[in-house]
Amino acid sequence: MHEVAVNYTERDLIGGTCASRSWMRRADVDEHGSRAKLTRWVPPMLTYRISTLGCRVNHAEARALEQVLLDRGLRPASGPGGAHVEVIHSCAVTTRAAAKSRNAARRAARRTGGGSGPSPLVIVTGCLAADPDRARNADAAGGEANLIGHAGDATLPERFAHRVEAWLEGQSQVQTPAQKQAQTQAQEQAPARARSLRVLPMGSTAPPPAAGGHVRAEVKIQDGCDAHCTFCIIPRLRPTLRSKTIEQVVEEVRQLVDAGHVEVVLTGIFIGAWGHETALRRRQSPSSGSPLADLMDTVAQIPGLKRLRLSSMEPGDVDEPLLDAMSANDGVIVPHLHLPLQSGSDRVLRRMNRQYGADDYRDMLAMVRERLGDDVALTTDVICGFPGETPADHAATVAMALEAGFFHMHVFPYSPRPGTAAARWRDQAVDGATARQRVRALIELETRPGGLRARFQRRLLGRGLRVIIEQADAARPGRWLGRCDQYALVSIDGAHLQTGQLVQAHAEEIHDDVLLGQVHAETPAVALPQLPQGCPA
Ligand code: SF4
Repeated sequence: MHEVAVNYTERDLIGGTCASRSWMRRADVDEHGSRAKLTRWVPPMLTYRISTLGCRVNHAEARALEQVLLDRGLRPASGPGGAHVEVIHSCAVTTRAAAKSRNAARRAARRTGGGSGPSPLVIVTGCLAADPDRARNADAAGGEANLIGHAGDATLPERFAHRVEAWLEGQSQVQTPAQKQAQTQAQEQAPARARSLRVLPMGSTAPPPAAGGHVRAEVKIQDGCDAHCTFCIIPRLRPTLRSKTIEQVVEEVRQLVDAGHVEVVLTGIFIGAWGHETALRRRQSPSSGSPLADLMDTVAQIPGLKRLRLSSMEPGDVDEPLLDAMSANDGVIVPHLHLPLQSGSDRVLRRMNRQYGADDYRDMLAMVRERLGDDVALTTDVICGFPGETPADHAATVAMALEAGFFHMHVFPYSPRPGTAAARWRDQAVDGATARQRVRALIELETRPGGLRARFQRRLLGRGLRVIIEQADAARPGRWLGRCDQYALVSIDGAHLQTGQLVQAHAEEIHDDVLLGQVHAETPAVALPQLPQGCPA
């Protein structure tokens, strides 16, 4: 007896009681080919689409969700038509982002599942699930069961897997052994974790290949924040702090390198809290030493990894062990730190409930420069027009930006987020025009001729730069665009170069905001990962 796949229509098999869609039947047959018994029903190739909105962390998380679907035999939908399962990995960091996520879910629901037949299963994962506007969110997702957030003992991918399992059961009517096993494992693991661990492992360690031709891959190492900055909704949306184990991170990076990625960015909601139970008292929590420094040190040793970068981290988390790990591994870990400033005024920082003052930020920058040198690239986030921000507070931010010499600033006008403390301080609101004018002033500080960006680019002229080639330079035929370790864009001369190739280059001039460089030495090109084959359905 052995199992074979047989194509039938439902009408053939069960007397025409259902619509006559084509289903695949797994049946045990004897050596003469006679059918013996039905073992399970498998719908024709089921497809999925994941639409990810928002931050880098979301994009890294989407890989774990994708793995859940691939593990269960679903395949990515090809083309613009509907998929059987439409996942919206949502963002709700602002009111507008929440509305965008809801719209994406509604659009997905209108597409026809798999190109024909009934509506798809729409699952909305991530931050929208904890957004205060619960009724509207559930409506967009087609029901509460399809809203899966971050809070709770089980991880988001585990709860997502449960929902997909339940839906697949409805599709096949007979649970497959893999489904049964996955369900049992999830049921066994969740209570055990709740009993014994506050630092929880997350998601899948087996990421599928990222989108085609990608040089850079992101690995989410941490989730959750309980710091409660007064402008930020994240602690309500992702209140549970979780960290991947060092083994998980190493395994995931190893797989990405094996798949052809040459650069990895470690991301998280509060990556300085990696290995800690709380972001607030992380320095006093049970883990000793500097876990993040140890992690960076370990990951940097992975053979084949050419570049390791940290995403945004809180200024208070930059410590000597971390800087030592960065300088000790300077052939892999890049001299670039993204350190959100938000404001240069102590008064505003206190009202924002940030965990540092302006002098702490200055001291931290001095330590960074002492350990990593003056060519370190510093980027930041700034909010303009926070309630109560005076012209003097804004001037303090401008002064700090000049002093820090940021290479790039993400500057946002403050917008109140319902559900946060600052949203209630209407009486001290800064008017929109003033906030926008302050945003413009900071952007100009960076982008004007001779501004902060040009100043930093000039520092790089004539230096040896390590550049990873990312794409053909559309504006300059015969040249390629890539980023150097300091994250500056470099256009390299050389028609024979390829995406993913690491080259040593010298930058000789700046043109249209881009460094123009020549190659000095190159490493062989590697084959970059491509998306899995699309489903023919
Ligand atoms: S540290 Fe502050 S800004 Fe960052 S996620 Fe936590 S609450 Fe939000």
